[in-house]
Amino acid sequence: MNCRHCHHPLQNVFLDLGFAPPSNAYLSKAELNEPERYYPLKLYVCEHCWLVQTEDYAQAGELFSHDYAYFSSTSSSWLVHAKDYSDMITKRLGLNKDSLVIEVAANDGYLLKNFVAAHIPCLGIEPTASTAAAAEMLGIPVLREFFGQSLAQRLVSEGKQADLILGNNVYAHVPDINDFTAGLKTALKSGGTITLEFPHLMRLIEHTQFDTVYHEHFSYLSLYSVSRIFKRAGLRVCDVDELHTHGGSLRVYGCHEEDARENAGSVDALLEEERLRGMRNLEIYQGFQLRAERVKDDLLLFLIDQKRAGKVVAGYGAAAKGCTLLNFAGIKPDLLPYVCDAAPSKQGKYLPGTHVAILHPDELHERKPDIVLILPWNIQDEVTQQLSHIREWGGKFAVAVPSVTLF
Ligand SMILES: [Zn+2]
Repeated sequence: MNCRHCHHPLQNVFLDLGFAPPSNAYLSKAELNEPERYYPLKLYVCEHCWLVQTEDYAQAGELFSHDYAYFSSTSSSWLVHAKDYSDMITKRLGLNKDSLVIEVAANDGYLLKNFVAAHIPCLGIEPTASTAAAAEMLGIPVLREFFGQSLAQRLVSEGKQADLILGNNVYAHVPDINDFTAGLKTALKSGGTITLEFPHLMRLIEHTQFDTVYHEHFSYLSLYSVSRIFKRAGLRVCDVDELHTHGGSLRVYGCHEEDARENAGSVDALLEEERLRGMRNLEIYQGFQLRAERVKDDLLLFLIDQKRAGKVVAGYGAAAKGCTLLNFAGIKPDLLPYVCDAAPSKQGKYLPGTHVAILHPDELHERKPDIVLILPWNIQDEVTQQLSHIREWGGKFAVAVPSVTLF
């Protein structure tokens, strides 16, 4: 296999999590009796451009046949994040009724609704029908397609180029990152700005966040690799913010290569920090597998200890992170009998691979588990507040990443 960006042969494995089913392939009770498809879950690092990427395998397209829709608006903290961003970028770029804002992966309109409210013209790109329909209900025009060079060229032919193109948590999820980036270049007005948010590979490594790896997450990005990908497309990273979302994300600001803007000092400073931390040497990547295994082993020991002590551990949050962690660790219902999740679409189903039942959060009150293991550690504060009532029966919380912690 060759690097998806620079096409050099990939020779170095960064992380091998074995085989796993697609993380969003929740099972009905009837489907528990059917065979499940597992795919390799392995990441390579390119020692030429330092892009970390999933291994190619046959039938990758099947992953997307599961039309599971995540509605961004269900997370209150994410809505606040979107509103703060909209206010900041409107002021910073001086956006007004003559501007055009395009959001790639506009989801249910959780973000663009802020531009609608401010009378700034916008366009959402969103291939998932159910979320696109929700966005349209908010008055947001939506193109139900995948973004790339061909869509961007069509937009240009219709006289649509954007003052702002934004993409939150989509850049790491596109299979062809070169084509996507070329599309950004094409659809961007002269003097326009791109902002992209994605988890920062430097933080993934620092905090052993191996559970953020899943099949649909194709690229694991550093500022260095993104700068290279932008450059090849005729774009330039002109500023960067470090965010706390998803365990440590970057928001990069891009412009045309020839734009008059000078780069903010934060760009060179962060490139230098990445370099000093060894992000352009193989060693840091080669040492990651053992660190991931250590976390996995510690979680297994913890769950076995609790079981032998007669305690019940329940899970909370039936999302991709939990699926990756439980599958890698081989944790089945004997160690984790159920996991609760607030999304009605998941309740009554089972986690792929591990077959752990997904229940309504009210079940915690009925069953009173001794410990609630929070699987999406990135929303740990939100979850501990929402579930504070477990303290009434002496319940405790736990997280597994970056290390097993009971509190
Ligand atoms: Zn490469």
